[in-house]
Amino acid sequence: MEEKVAVVKCGSYDKAAVAEAVVKIFSLCDIREDAFRKLLFKPNMLSARTPEEGVTTHPAVVEAAVRYFKSSEKIIGDSPANINKPAELYWDKCGYKQVSEETGAPLVKFSSSFMLDIHLHPHLHPPPSRGRKMERTEVPVTDYLKEFSLINIAKLKTHGLTILTAAMKNLYGLIPGFRKSVLHSIFVSPLHFSEFLAVYYHAVKDYVSFNLVDAVVAMEGSGPAAGKLRDTGYLIGGRNAVAVDIACCKIIGIKPENIPYLKIYGERYGLPEIELAGDELVPVKDFDIPGRRTGAVISNRAFRPLLGLLGKHFKAMPVIDYAQCRKCRACVQVCPVKAISKDLKFDRKKCINCLCCFEVCPYKAISVKKSFIAKLFT
Ligand code: SF4
Ligand code: SF4
Repeated sequence: MEEKVAVVKCGSYDKAAVAEAVVKIFSLCDIREDAFRKLLFKPNMLSARTPEEGVTTHPAVVEAAVRYFKSSEKIIGDSPANINKPAELYWDKCGYKQVSEETGAPLVKFSSSFMLDIHLHPHLHPPPSRGRKMERTEVPVTDYLKEFSLINIAKLKTHGLTILTAAMKNLYGLIPGFRKSVLHSIFVSPLHFSEFLAVYYHAVKDYVSFNLVDAVVAMEGSGPAAGKLRDTGYLIGGRNAVAVDIACCKIIGIKPENIPYLKIYGERYGLPEIELAGDELVPVKDFDIPGRRTGAVISNRAFRPLLGLLGKHFKAMPVIDYAQCRKCRACVQVCPVKAISKDLKFDRKKCINCLCCFEVCPYKAISVKKSFIAKLFT
């Protein structure tokens, strides 16, 4: 069966223009205003950054989606990895506090969770150096999924670990707070983490009612937190996050098979055929995707045994620019393995290269440096 994906042009974050595009997307996908009784809207609230910085889902997109539905109960929530900063600070900076006040939809924290059973593939296990093999594991996800239908509202960006972040990756945020960072310490290499994302999506997908991706302005280069903004001019929506991400690939000009988590998802469960609806999809020229070649290498089955062996040397390492650093300590707080000292020095033996510190740094003071092996293959 073909999965419908609506692609609608939207040239700015003007509220009326965004609302018109969002209504068109829901209507093209046959999603009625009264389709759901209780709704959770989950934006990408990666960091406490303003809408203009393009790191988080723009509040105009969240507001348009909230206003569309005539549900009896609507809530807005996400759970950033850095639990040491109050959620209220994120809500305020990202513009969601204002959306909540104007729409009456309360903001919620993901404080309680239930366990999702994840069936791992026999090949999916932590790298040999960690010495454990797992066939299944349990992952906590927010309790709200039990009662509320989920509208997943992502932001289109490049990503240092997964190449792309759009609809599928945004669902990782359903895992409360610091538990996200802890999972990085289990699925350490880009290959293992991409495999985890694929099986995690398969386990969580039945809780997702719809996916919207904010690609009015996307992030290229050093995403997901320190890249350059690029006017891409689209909003994208569909019921199936894999299909939506495939459409996102078309917009930024990368083959889905070069995104490791999509490639692995396809190998395991099959990629959907997509039926595009709405406006003509014109790919953005020369979108800067730094992991483009890395993704192609990781996605290539022939390289995987070698990458399994070289996994721990296949690294993208965080580096601090001390002139830029404001000593806010967000990186220290988010690190799952305590690899950053009080005086902001990295312990390279402890570091698992999850890049959580890079993602949360509010001042773009952390950049990513590739190891020799990573440079060799990419
Ligand atoms: S130092 Fe940064 S990249 Fe290394 S483990 Fe800690 S958070 Fe992850
Ligand atoms: S590197 Fe970034 S996150 Fe870490 S202390 Fe400096 S400014 Fe804060």
